[in-house]
Amino acid sequence: MSTTLISNAPEIKADDKIRLPGLSRAQISEHLAAIGIDPKKLKMRTSQVFQWIYNHGVTEFDQMSNVAKPMQVKLAEHFSLTRPEIIERQVSVDGTRKYLVRMAPGIEVESVFIPNVSKTGALCVSSQVGCTLTCKFCHTGTQRLVRNLTAQEIVLQVMMTRDDLGEWPTTQENRKLTNVVFMGMGEPLYNTDNVAAAIDILADDTGLAIGRRRVTVSTSGVVPDIAKIGERTNAMLAISLHAANDELREQIMPINRKYPLVDLMEACRNYPGLSNARRITFEYVMLKGINDSPKHARELIRLLEGIPAKVNLIPFNPWPDSPYECSDWATIERFGVLVNKAGYAAPIRTPRGRDILAACGQLKSESEKMRASQKRKLEKEK
Ligand code: SAH
Ligand code: SF4
Repeated sequence: MSTTLISNAPEIKADDKIRLPGLSRAQISEHLAAIGIDPKKLKMRTSQVFQWIYNHGVTEFDQMSNVAKPMQVKLAEHFSLTRPEIIERQVSVDGTRKYLVRMAPGIEVESVFIPNVSKTGALCVSSQVGCTLTCKFCHTGTQRLVRNLTAQEIVLQVMMTRDDLGEWPTTQENRKLTNVVFMGMGEPLYNTDNVAAAIDILADDTGLAIGRRRVTVSTSGVVPDIAKIGERTNAMLAISLHAANDELREQIMPINRKYPLVDLMEACRNYPGLSNARRITFEYVMLKGINDSPKHARELIRLLEGIPAKVNLIPFNPWPDSPYECSDWATIERFGVLVNKAGYAAPIRTPRGRDILAACGQLKSESEKMRASQKRKLEKEK
């Protein structure tokens, strides 16, 4: 598997030192070589540092107890183990945690941790700040793209959640952060190289050890990169389908004009490793009076024929001035029953973290609004 790292932003520098957490083994090795580590010991040193960072989550070099003191001092002179700043952290009554992190000036990134009743939990990470696509039901779609996140910035979202949950070292039993889903802000397959590089780092079993089958990449349907992400990462695939005919899908998801359903479904059928044990998840947001009738359910069933699939029915999450409403619960259930009768699992995603607005694209805008209103208040008080 290739581990090339392509990014369009500089590695994060903390206090003018290069920040190591979030970097790949190859990058860490390069940086160690650059400060004159003995080439004969480079591989061993890299492994040591890598494990301290990703297995133990250390934030100080003097915690690297099998590294000699002078070496610890030298590392600390050049590198940092710090994390970026958390601007906002909210914990819902249902245990959902939402973070807003400032990766760099103007680069504010949201992630949401969703614990399950069972022993697992998923972190929803962002792959871009904003999005170039303008799906009509999505709040992120109203925010312009600022830039792609680097692999480091993606991995840091996972590490910072581990910090907050106190789940170091990796080997500790009862870890709750077991899964990662690329369902935060942005379109991961418009940032495929960095997403793939991040998955390589997450999956390293001497480090964070989040197995590839516990990582799901969700795409609105960037057809050319579907096979690519599958081949490079072995990750699970989710498709934001939301409509099963081109006319309607074009209306709500402009990307369908570029990559119509026939091409999208062909890419799904050919997804590397697809089997009954490794199904594709089709996400279907329930929009009142738009895509939620029995006719739409039958259309969906026809479209999925022959594909090992499950369907996630997502109650639409309204945002200020959003053009849609969520379907009634009974309508969602009726839709689910039809899909289920056709042999597909069709769970209705229960809304989580409603009290802290832990929905797609809401966090950043909410906090922006809050800061704007705070500013106005402060100005008034002047
Ligand atoms: N860009 C990728 C991943 C991020 S969006 C994609 O589109 O798949 C993650 C999921 O949330 C997608 O299925 C998206 O369609 C859905 N979503 C976006 N806005 C929503 C809203 N307001 N209510 C419910 N689901 C929404
Ligand atoms: Fe972008 Fe996904 Fe939102 Fe569409 S649904 S605007 S692709 S983040």
